Amino acid sequence: MYDVLIVGCGISGAALAMELSRYQLKVAVLEKENDVALATTKANSAILHAGYDPAPGTLAARLNVEGSRMGEELCRELDVPYKKLGSLVVAFSQEELEVLRTLYDRGCANGVPGLEIIGRERLREMEPGIAPEALGALYAPSAAVVNPWEYAIAMAEAAVKNGVELFLRTEVTGLSKEGLGWRVETNRGVFEAKWVVNAAGVCCGQIHEMAAPPAFSVHPAKGEYYLLDKSEGYTVSHVVFQCPNRDGKGVLVSPTVHGNLIVGPNAAPCGEDDRANTAAGLEFVRTAAKKSVPGINFRENIRNFAGVRANTSCEDFIIEMAGEHFLDVAGIRSPGLTAAPAIGKYAAGLLQKDGLILTKKDSWDGRRKKVRIAPLSPAEKNRLIARNPAYGRVICRCETITEGEILDALHSPIPPVSVDGVKRRAGSGMGRCQGGFCGPRVVEIMAREYGVDPQEILMDRDGSAILTGRTKEGGAKHGTAV
Ligand SMILES: Cc1cc2nc3c(=O)[nH]c(=O)nc-3n(C[C@H](O)[C@H](O)[C@H](O)COP(=O)(O)OP(=O)(O)OC[C@H]3O[C@@H](n4cnc5c(N)ncnc54)[C@H](O)[C@@H]3O)c2cc1C
Repeated sequence: MYDVLIVGCGISGAALAMELSRYQLKVAVLEKENDVALATTKANSAILHAGYDPAPGTLAARLNVEGSRMGEELCRELDVPYKKLGSLVVAFSQEELEVLRTLYDRGCANGVPGLEIIGRERLREMEPGIAPEALGALYAPSAAVVNPWEYAIAMAEAAVKNGVELFLRTEVTGLSKEGLGWRVETNRGVFEAKWVVNAAGVCCGQIHEMAAPPAFSVHPAKGEYYLLDKSEGYTVSHVVFQCPNRDGKGVLVSPTVHGNLIVGPNAAPCGEDDRANTAAGLEFVRTAAKKSVPGINFRENIRNFAGVRANTSCEDFIIEMAGEHFLDVAGIRSPGLTAAPAIGKYAAGLLQKDGLILTKKDSWDGRRKKVRIAPLSPAEKNRLIARNPAYGRVICRCETITEGEILDALHSPIPPVSVDGVKRRAGSGMGRCQGGFCGPRVVEIMAREYGVDPQEILMDRDGSAILTGRTKEGGAKHGTAV
């Protein structure tokens, strides 16, 4: 029997798993997809928010500021790309200047460091590309950008390296109390656990209702984005927000941690798994973004994507014991990415209060170090290539990702089963051609390394076949990438 069983391996489940891996416990994470961080954690704005947005006194406010404080050092330990760019909320009217004052007061009450309201001159000096109509801004120097999926993967890897068991393609279908623990039914058999944690993202309502009476409803809302080429990454140098409205933080324009430009999101009600882009959504994003930064060159767009918010009938995060030995980590909407490490610690504390004994392990090592060839000096590259010639074979030409880095990903603690899984670990296919050139070579390397037929290599989620059979001549037939 497991001590703790976590349902869902987005960043919330991964952060809690990493935290619990510090203790002498038998912990498992059950994830329905073929990889971790495949749902909301993969598709968002990738900002570690400063923390002026959530209302003072809420759990979201507290965990946002704590998570933002923890982020920099944690990213260093986990070797996850992180850049502290600072953010600007821009006002375009007298009413919006008043909103800035409210956000400033909220931020001060929440303990956000270094907040300032700046006038139009200083704003223009900091961001020359901002629209001339801008009157001022709230400047938050602690806001940062990260690689969201790498943050979650790194936490999940730390958990696995320190003894947590991860079961992928394992969907929880039922929960029932049995003796002192829980009987957890899945598509891959039955698990038993003393405590169950619901970290199922947009599916948190279903998991909650398997274990406890209904307490909240989930109202998924989609956010759509543009990702522009690195040629546009210098359009702004801070995270540029507009004033928040009822639907959220509004449309932002920001450099990404990889040096691209991200623009979005809108907010529209949707189904749990509806990640399709729409003409209307993208048109809204384009028009809104041009209000703050008129010079955005959308012709340099290399990808559109959408993420789904786990909005609920409750305004705050729902992190509480909801039944006997059953913990909800539910309704983790924005700023959930920022708050994640603090959520992990807070949730572990609630389990402890509920009777889980936390005895530290003698040895725990959560550090991670990755080889990244592109930023190295020629001498450093040569040293690595002499040790392992695979670091000298470039597979992804846009991002200069080598075979050695792809092999590292394939032999990492949570080996990817898809081309996009490799992308999320090694960075191949992230560039201008979006995998057009390197995709087939990644398939070949994966098939060779795993000793499987290339037809078994997926594009992303289960069902996303790339090759569907062999021609008479022995070449591969192409399928439709989903
Ligand atoms: C458009 C948008 C923009 C955002 N921008 C930001 C931002 O800039 N900064 C920020 O801090 N936050 C942001 N967020 C919020 C942030 O992305 C989320 O709070 C965070 O990713 C939630 O993580 P999670 O682990 O709770 O959920 P998820 O990432 O959705 O993970 C839940 C996991 O549970 C699994 N699961 C579901 N049901 C089952 C089942 N029955 N059995 C097993 N597994 C199951 C799913 O497959 C999934 O992997 C944004 C969100 C959106 C949608």
